[in-house]
Amino acid sequence: MFRKKYDDDFLNKVIIKRTDRKKTISISVKGEKIILLSPRLVSTNFLYDILLKKKKWIIKKLKYQNELMETNYKKIIFNESLLKFGKKKSISFKKSISDKVIEKGDIVEIYFANKDDIENIIKKWYKEELECYINLRLKHYKKLMKVRYNSFHIKPYKSKLGSCSYNGRLAFNLKIITMPRKVIDYILIHELCHLKHFNHSKDFWCLVEKYCPDFENHKKWIKKHQNSFV
Ligand SMILES: [Zn+2]
Repeated sequence: MFRKKYDDDFLNKVIIKRTDRKKTISISVKGEKIILLSPRLVSTNFLYDILLKKKKWIIKKLKYQNELMETNYKKIIFNESLLKFGKKKSISFKKSISDKVIEKGDIVEIYFANKDDIENIIKKWYKEELECYINLRLKHYKKLMKVRYNSFHIKPYKSKLGSCSYNGRLAFNLKIITMPRKVIDYILIHELCHLKHFNHSKDFWCLVEKYCPDFENHKKWIKKHQNSFV
C-alpha cells in the first residue's frame, strides 16, 4: 500500500515511461500531458518523490500551457494543432530568445520570446510557406497554360480566396494554406484562367476544366469546408 504522501491525484496524471536507453530522469509537460522518462530500474516511489518535489514547477508549466491556448490566437490553433496543406499538425510551444517555427514531420515547434506574438509568428510562417508553394506552382502553370501575370501577393482576405486584376496582379488568401494542395492548385488555375477570360462564362469554366479536370470536386470541398477556415 502507498504511504499517504503518494495518495495525490496529481501523480495519476503523470505518464511514466521506462526505457533502457535513458540514463537520467526527465520530466516534460506537453499540452495537458506530463511525461516522465526514466531508466528502467528506478523504483516508482523514487520517481513519485521526484514528481512531488517538482509538483509546483509542473503545475506552473501546465497552467502556462493552458493560458497559451486561451489567448486570441486560438482562432488559428485548434486543440494544440494547426492545419497546413490539409494536414493536421500538432503544436509544441517552446519559450526561446528568438521567434521561429520548425516543422518536424507532423509536429510544428513554435519558438517564441513573447506569447503575445505567437499568432504573428504562425502567420509569418504560414505566409512564407504558402508563398514558396504558390511561386513553384504558378511557374509550372504559367508555362503549361501559356499565360502571363504581373505579380502575386498573399493577403489576409476575409472570405475571398483569390483575385486577378485587369493588369495581371494576382492575390491569394493566406487562409488557403490550410487547404489540400490540390484545392490550392485549383484556386491558382482559377485565377490564371481569369487572365484569359475576365468573367465566369462557359468558356472560362471550360478552360479551368482543361487544366483542372477535378475542379467540381474542389469547388464542393471549398463549399463544405468554408466555415472551418481559420
Ligand atoms: Zn473567378
